[in-house]
Amino acid sequence: MALRGHPILRNNILARNGAATECRPYKDAMASEELIKVVAETKKQLEHLRVLGVEGILVSAAVTQPVEAPPQVPMTSLFGDIAPPPVKLTRSTETFEQIHAEIGDCTRCPLHLERTHVVHTEGNRKARLMFVGEAPGADEDAQARPFVGRAGQLLTKIIEAIGMKREEVLIGNVNRCRPPGNRAPTTEEASTCKPYLLREIAVVQPEVIVVLGNTAMKNMLDTREGITRLRGNFQDYKGIKVMPTFHPAYLLRDPSKKRETWEDLKKVRAYLDSHRSTDR
Ligand code: URA
Repeated sequence: MALRGHPILRNNILARNGAATECRPYKDAMASEELIKVVAETKKQLEHLRVLGVEGILVSAAVTQPVEAPPQVPMTSLFGDIAPPPVKLTRSTETFEQIHAEIGDCTRCPLHLERTHVVHTEGNRKARLMFVGEAPGADEDAQARPFVGRAGQLLTKIIEAIGMKREEVLIGNVNRCRPPGNRAPTTEEASTCKPYLLREIAVVQPEVIVVLGNTAMKNMLDTREGITRLRGNFQDYKGIKVMPTFHPAYLLRDPSKKRETWEDLKKVRAYLDSHRSTDR
């Protein structure tokens, strides 16, 4: 049995013989009197183990090496971050009529001052696919229907390009009143109107929502990221896939962006094809 050669025992013996250089790890850590006590106790225990028939023991490096202080970890990142459970949208039993009646002749934000009509979400109330824009333009304001102007006609073509009809999908806007001069709605105007859109989404629970353009995307997803960065990548709204893509009005100004929009819409088509819905 090689107990004499064992690191603890060897160190202990050396310590007792005053070979302090061999015991440097301990020397700095303990007063010599305390060290002698530990050595004696260790020896006693090892001898007891030998009597019991133990022929050797494993000693980890931590026992024979100087003990280093663990790195300081900020308390907030201790054990990593546990993500909160994903929030799922619960299906609402309200009707669009109830929601629209509650909106009424809305005066909740300054956009009411210059609008002609409140423009509600329209289309199939069992739709698998929904399109969300920013706010009505002049044509929409005049006709009280979303996406009926030039941008709307292009949207209809986009819908048809993925093999669907306009009547099959749901079309709405974050804001229901036309901003003067077609300016973007302010964050406050958007957050006043958005809850009604979210209530409609909870009624229909579409499988995919395509958000059109930067303003609609930022308001719908509460993000500061820009459309160029997020477009083409599915995002999440309470378990519903959200595909940001360019606004059709932007495509009218820059037709070269139609290619990317088409790529985004093909992903939407592929998702709908691979998740055949049964309960609609
Ligand atoms: N642009 C929008 O964002 N929505 C419409 O309804 C029309 C144009």
